[in-house]
Amino acid sequence: VEIIGNTEIIDPKEIKIFEGVHGVIRIREPYLLASKKSQNKTSVIRVKDVEIGGNAIQIMAGPCAVENEKQIYTIAQNLNKLGIKILRGGAFKPRSSPYFFQGLEEKGLKLIRAAADEYKMTVVSEILDTKYLSLMEKYVDILQIGSRNMYNYALLKEVGKITKPVLLKRAWSATIEELLMSAEYIISSGNKNVVLCERGIRTFEQSLRNTLDLSAVPVIKSRTHLPVIVDPSHATGFHEIAVPMAESAIVAGADGLLIEVHDRPARALSDGIQSLDLRTFKSLLKRLHEISKFMGRDF
Ligand code: PEP
Ligand code: MN
Repeated sequence: VEIIGNTEIIDPKEIKIFEGVHGVIRIREPYLLASKKSQNKTSVIRVKDVEIGGNAIQIMAGPCAVENEKQIYTIAQNLNKLGIKILRGGAFKPRSSPYFFQGLEEKGLKLIRAAADEYKMTVVSEILDTKYLSLMEKYVDILQIGSRNMYNYALLKEVGKITKPVLLKRAWSATIEELLMSAEYIISSGNKNVVLCERGIRTFEQSLRNTLDLSAVPVIKSRTHLPVIVDPSHATGFHEIAVPMAESAIVAGADGLLIEVHDRPARALSDGIQSLDLRTFKSLLKRLHEISKFMGRDF
């Protein structure tokens, strides 16, 4: 028996339960709108003067968290000098301990907005909860859904109702299909401006913070038209490992990077060990420039 039409609404388990049914096979992916079949060419997500998913590699860089005015201005100024257009920085931080720095909240959003405006940059920052939607929309250009919230379907539906781009990070326990289903939640709610981010998954390996699943990049790209970027910082947890992984991500076909950079990593209030200092970041950019050229990408 073959079923055609809007089969996404059917849960295979509901058919498998009938007597006499040996198995149920999906011929089409359950993520219709995110699927490569709905659109073959990579979607280009446009925000201000920035394009993600075009031929140019986009680098989103900045501190883990906005800490104070001087810190975010210093970092923005230096990144701007290096040609970076997208400034990252968390104002609401999902920390693994309630005793760790939780972010400056609205004050942090105001600071990163002001610093970005000063240098004509675009802001990406994480939305932690549906209750912050209008606040985030006011200050931020790209709303980030963190790894911990990839399964927060209520939040995915809410960011699906706005038009600003969403950076959807893979949960460390998520399969590629689950990531794409989360993207489907956002697109089917009305927002097709979704960028995916591979940020490492949890495996038995304990040497690093996570295991960067670089092979996920070509796999995701073969299944969806959405742009894919890589976060080598949270994936590895160490700046010296993040550097070669950033380079490898471009070779793997990523459309960009999300990378933590701090003017004084040793004094960072969060994720200092994995943050690149400005000098290291500058030399990484030089190499990324060469690698991008080799890959036929603009930089
Ligand atoms: C972040 O990018 O600020 C972050 C918290 O990353 P993740 O959600 O991937 O852990
Ligand atoms: Mn961080």
